[in-house]
Order: sequence, then C-alpha cells, then structure tokens
Amino acid sequence: MMHAQRPTWCEIDLSAIRHNLATLGDMVGPKVGVFVCVKGDASGCGDIEVARTAEQAGAAGAAFGNLDRAMAARQAGVRLPILLYPTCLPDTAPALEAHNLMPTLSTLEDVAAWSSHAKSLKVFLKLDGGGFRAGALPHHAPAVARAIADSNTLELAGAYGHPMASYGPVDPVYTDAQVNSCIDALKRIEAAGIDVPVRMVSSSAIILSHPDADLNAVDPGRLAIGQSFPAVPGRERVWRHALVGLRSHLVMVKSLDDIGDVMPAPFLPRRPGMKIGLVPYGWSDGYPRKIPENATALLHGRRVRLLGPTHSELLRVDLTDVPEAAIGDEVVFLGRQGNDEIGLEELAVQWKVGVSDLYGAIGKSVRRHYLR
Ligand SMILES: *Cc1c(COP(=O)(O)O)cnc(C)c1O
Repeated sequence: MMHAQRPTWCEIDLSAIRHNLATLGDMVGPKVGVFVCVKGDASGCGDIEVARTAEQAGAAGAAFGNLDRAMAARQAGVRLPILLYPTCLPDTAPALEAHNLMPTLSTLEDVAAWSSHAKSLKVFLKLDGGGFRAGALPHHAPAVARAIADSNTLELAGAYGHPMASYGPVDPVYTDAQVNSCIDALKRIEAAGIDVPVRMVSSSAIILSHPDADLNAVDPGRLAIGQSFPAVPGRERVWRHALVGLRSHLVMVKSLDDIGDVMPAPFLPRRPGMKIGLVPYGWSDGYPRKIPENATALLHGRRVRLLGPTHSELLRVDLTDVPEAAIGDEVVFLGRQGNDEIGLEELAVQWKVGVSDLYGAIGKSVRRHYLR
C-alpha cells in the first residue's frame, strides 16, 4: 500500500550539524566538553535527532528544556548525559532517576525539596550572573553548592550560567559582567572546597565572543544548527545551516480566465489568461499571516508569485506565467530547484523576520525530512 502523507515538508541537513559540531570541537579543543542545547525542539530541527547526532559526534551531553521531550529522547535510545533546565517540579525526582536525567537547582529551597523526593540524583547548580532568571547569585552560590554536597540524596554533577548576550539590544558591558560574575561564582564554590565536575557558561554567542569563558564545557544551541553570532578574531569559522528546505506540491490548478458571472474576489488582482494553483501550506504552519509583498516560490525552476490572503493551511500561487504547471508539481519556498535557489536569508527578508524565527516557524509545524 502507498504511504500517504501531506505533501509539505522541511529539510534538515544532519551533515551540517555534524560539520558545526566538528568545527566547534576543533575550536574549543579536546579538554572542553560540548553540551548541546536542544531546547525548543532544537529550534525546530528536532531535539531527538539533534541529540542523537551530537551523541554520535562525541558530545559530552545534551540539555533539554522540556521534561517530556527528555524522557522521549531516552525512550528513543539517546544515552548522552542529559541536563534539564529549571522547568520541572521536585516530585518528578523518581522519574528523573529512572531516566537518568539531571535537573537544575538554584536555591536552598530547591535543594530541600529535591533532596526530599530523591533517592540518588545527580543535579546541576545554575548560576545567576545578573540575568535575574533561575540561578544562584554569586554570593549565595557556595551555600547552595554546599547544601547539595551535604545532601544524602543529591550529587553535584556540574554548574552552569547563561549570560544574556543575544536577546535584543544587550549591552556588551552587561554581557561581560555576567560572564565574569558566573566565573566568579564558580571560583567561590571551588574556594569553599566543593568539586564541580562540569563548569560551563558559554552559549553560542559567548563561545564566539569570549574564548576565555570556555572553562571545561560549553553549551551551544543555535550554533550547532548553524545560526552564527559575531565572532572575535580567531573564532571566525564557517557554520552551515541545518534548515535547508521547505517544499510542497501543487494540489490544485485552476484557470480564472473566464469566471462566468460570479463577482470577482476583491483581494485578487486578475490578469488575462490567469491561472492559479493551491499549495497545502499556510499560516497555521508558520507562513506569515499577512502575505509579504513580492513573496515568491520556485516552480519549474522559475519564480512564481504568492497571492494573498494566506489561509490556515493553504496558499495561492500565480501560475499565469507557467501555464504548463500541473497537479503534483513541486513548489519550493526554501531551497534549490533547477538553476534557482531561495536561501534562508532571502526567505527571512520576504517574511520580514529573523533567521532564528524561520527555524521555529518552519521546523515546528511541518514534517521534517532528514538529509543524512
Ligand atoms: C538556551 C540556552 C543555551 C543555548 O543558547 P544558544 O544561544 O542557542 O546557544 C545554553 N545554555 C542555557 C542555560 C540556555 O538556556
């Protein structure tokens, strides 16, 4: 029997992720572990696939934001050490133990709650370098680390900070201050005689801008899938985007040359010999709700115009200039077709969003096809 599927999908190139992880490994050197952050379904690239790719590439661990997804990764056979960001409750300790997942603790209250629910649980301490989210402030960190070390049921597996570097117009002076505060907190913990096996403060932007903050591990997310950030001299590299395609097929073609006696749709400027096609992709799949001016797709290796309005799961394309187009023909929003190509940067301009937003919008809403 034929396998029936919606004819719309995106393409994730796992060889790009392998390239990025190898580049990163060379850059930080063999003494620095890489904990790949796969929160947000790895920005739409698929958390389990990215974690598995990281495992095969020799990563030190993976970090998840969502307990359900981390458990799904375990069920799918991911064996890497897994760190959970502070997004789950202490009464899940037995499940975390059963799945070998490490939660994040920040406060003495956290330590009390988690130790009372746990039997034998490895945990991470988060450090707050001034971002004021989760984490222990530097002058509290030694006491929280001490409480973990003294607990009969908890074991300190590591500590990490997440200086804000890429959320809107963040002042580099503020980023530097956070990096320094996190490193200072680690020094205070070690000065108190507490061993911290894994020490990391570097997400993607920090890796590229603060080589001195590699410590003994780094935790990039977006860099692993090819989203780059400003790099200091010595840290410039070629990163490859993992999101390389968004493709669909015409499910209907129709002539609007002779519309009989219906009233013409006011939103659709008609042309002589007009022909339209429908593509099963729409705003509920991430396409902008307001059709961007000059939005195009590729059909038969040529540019066709998209016609508004965007529907929930459908878009119109203007086929007037490609009259031979037929049901089943491939329509490309992102990627190559024939001699033409629409790249991520161009698509981001068409949609008036950042490349980061494209990842989330596309990868989370349509089927992913992995190129290995
Ligand atoms: C999100 C996150 C990361 C990864 O951030 P990128 O900017 O995608 O590299 C790393 N560490 C922590 C604690 C995070 O929350």
